[in-house]
Amino acid sequence: MNRRRRLYEGKAKILYEGPEPGTLIQHFKDDATAFNARKHESIEGKGVLNNRISEHIFQLLGNVGVPTHFIKRMNMREQLIKEVEIVPLEVVVRNVAAGSLAKKLGLDEGMQLPRSIIEFYYKSDELDDPMVSEEHITAFGWANPQEIDEMMALALRINDFLSGLFFGIGIRLVDFKIEFGRHMEDDTMRIILADEISPDCCRLWDTKTSDKMDKDRFRQDLGGLIDAYQEVARRLGILTENPQNEPSGPRLVTSNE
Ligand code: UDP
Repeated sequence: MNRRRRLYEGKAKILYEGPEPGTLIQHFKDDATAFNARKHESIEGKGVLNNRISEHIFQLLGNVGVPTHFIKRMNMREQLIKEVEIVPLEVVVRNVAAGSLAKKLGLDEGMQLPRSIIEFYYKSDELDDPMVSEEHITAFGWANPQEIDEMMALALRINDFLSGLFFGIGIRLVDFKIEFGRHMEDDTMRIILADEISPDCCRLWDTKTSDKMDKDRFRQDLGGLIDAYQEVARRLGILTENPQNEPSGPRLVTSNE
């Protein structure tokens, strides 16, 4: 068997050397972690669902001109991606008060925010990913002012696109976390979307019932995580009732359904 070189293993994914220089293979594991891995479990099937959901979302974003690291899905758990230099920041976009923001500012969960808010967190397990300002980011050289502008502009475009996509299938995009990488294209260093976008890193609430369809089901011991992720995939048109059928595209949820 062809043993690929493992370059990095994170909490939910493994990165292997890719078949061509400048490429990597991103492998989605079933591991679920929360609270900086203090809570940890393996949930069978999660990696397969996240691989498909993230593939779908990255392809759609690519179609509307958002540059991403995604090249193609290789199998149930793996996708071929462009090798990038990861910017050591987690970029969080929020539309609705929830999680750490609601707690920190004493806001009611579910309150629509006056406008979308972008936050930066420094990627460091030892420090529990502390929130940082643009001042910290530029002073410590994690990204320069132009890169920060590009990440913010892309984050807002991604938010607008995904908010509409999810709203059309009866899901409220409360907040999400994305990561960016630097990629050399035609002698120019570009900021492109990296990592993944899946229910592991978004808050997704059913618009009618407010049921959580994301990793909060694991964080809060609500159970039913796989069913919820499957429902997200089904509404996105990735999973069909009849597996023989080709994916049919997003299914519009109408108000009288
Ligand atoms: N998030 C993530 N990884 C992290 C921290 C947060 O994917 O390490 C996502 C989380 O799923 C949510 C958003 O970022 O969609 C905002 O999370 P928040 O800051 O409220 O933190 P939490 O309450 O999840 O600890």
